[in-house]
Amino acid sequence: MSIADNIQGFAQKTLPPNVKLVAVSKTKPTGDILEAYQAGHKIFGENRVQELVDKYEALPRDIEWHMVGHMQSNKVKYIAPFVSLIQGVDKPKLLKVIDKEGRKNKRVIDVLLQFHIASEETKFGFHHQEAVDMLKSEDFRSLEYLRVRGVMGMATFTDDADKIRSEFRQLAKIFRDLKREFFSDDPGFKEISMGMSNDYQIAIEEGTTMVRIGSLIFGERNNH
Ligand SMILES: *Cc1c(COP(=O)(O)O)cnc(C)c1O
Repeated sequence: MSIADNIQGFAQKTLPPNVKLVAVSKTKPTGDILEAYQAGHKIFGENRVQELVDKYEALPRDIEWHMVGHMQSNKVKYIAPFVSLIQGVDKPKLLKVIDKEGRKNKRVIDVLLQFHIASEETKFGFHHQEAVDMLKSEDFRSLEYLRVRGVMGMATFTDDADKIRSEFRQLAKIFRDLKREFFSDDPGFKEISMGMSNDYQIAIEEGTTMVRIGSLIFGERNNH
């Protein structure tokens, strides 16, 4: 199967129409991205700032770029002019910096709040109460150049489907709770980004709106 076949397969049959596909192209060459692009796909995710900037500069301008990895606040300035969605905002400080860079670039930057749902300690993200405290704060309400579009999370890396399902369920519940308490009159707060190559089917069953798929589209990665 070619990259183009994989993209078309996802778009046409695997995903329900309300679920967006973010093709995670990290470590893959720009030629692979172009192949997916020419097959009609426009949304790509990267997890390293420098790689994202290089690919943005080399590729067509109508690509929607998502930053999907953990990021340091001192690097926001490099992607602020063009990024479509920063998935994985996991600290109040990062929100403040994104707002500042959005202001400089005169654009409102869309973000997702990342939640820690996995049992591994290495995965980043807010805990529920931490996010609630932040959303209630004056500091948060003064931010004008970013818009919170929803939540994002990564399940534990495991074969235990029940465990993955319960973690996705937890994220979907966090989404509903935040929606009710803070975003009930904001139709833009609507995304639940969950599901990767090995667990996206469970994510669909648990209400994902955005899956982030790398290896099933582009093939296995050599770790870097
Ligand atoms: C790499 C990555 C993905 C895609 O992983 P696959 O298992 O290759 O589908 C999704 N989300 C994030 C945050 C990633 O870093």
